[in-house]
Amino acid sequence: MKNILINSLLFVLLISSSGCSFTKKAYKSTTTALDKVNIFSVEEDIKLGKQVKAEIESDHKKFPILKESSNRDLYRYVRGLRDIILKKGNLKYKNKFAWEVKIIDDKKTLNAFATPGGYIYIYTGLIKFLDSEDQLLGVLGHEMAHADRRHSTRQLTKSLGITVLLNAILKDKQALEQVIAGIIGLKFSRSSEAEADEYSVRYLCPTPYNAAGAAGFFKKMLNQPSPPEFLSTHPSSKSRVADIEAMKNKLSCRGTRTNRDKYTRIKRMIR
Ligand SMILES: [Zn+2]
Repeated sequence: MKNILINSLLFVLLISSSGCSFTKKAYKSTTTALDKVNIFSVEEDIKLGKQVKAEIESDHKKFPILKESSNRDLYRYVRGLRDIILKKGNLKYKNKFAWEVKIIDDKKTLNAFATPGGYIYIYTGLIKFLDSEDQLLGVLGHEMAHADRRHSTRQLTKSLGITVLLNAILKDKQALEQVIAGIIGLKFSRSSEAEADEYSVRYLCPTPYNAAGAAGFFKKMLNQPSPPEFLSTHPSSKSRVADIEAMKNKLSCRGTRTNRDKYTRIKRMIR
């Protein structure tokens, strides 16, 4: 109840702050402040995530989730990687968010995404595209950081407006569809992307793995002839690769494990 009240108040504030009567300067400073503050509560992230997950997993045509019963080993493997991050990564909402990982059976799509509240979806196309375990850990860490740092709700509030998000929590189908399209096609701000990259290194730093796995992944992406879907929503650049490697050095991460051979064997499980 308290949250609804706070949100209604903030909603009024939002509407009034985007009105034309404000000078450009005043409007700019308001949006800058909103960049840093998430007016959505953590509990609302959790509720929204549950609804989004239910909607995604009921749409088998758009999101053909790989069957668990016939892919137990692959699921066990990917969830094992998630557990490495959860165990060592010091995530803020480690015990509060769901941290569910599902695989979408679509070999043509090089993408992964995370919903608010920690539901992670990885396409088989991306798993097959990568070369080593540290790269997949880097991608997982990057997506988990978007959820744990609560980038999606911050960004979705800006792009869709808070009422759409609140309606999605109340299972309004149209609002949910807007939110899902928003999550998949979400263009995070440059600062959110840089932060997700930074945290993917931080999460892996205490593990025996190469903490700059995300850099290996982005390097591969950059060499693609046409930019894959992931890059259109997670803009990449050479400086981004360099920043990830610099972060690994700055934090003195010593891990070197890549498990290339093991990863090649794992990829063969995808038919
Ligand atoms: Zn991202």
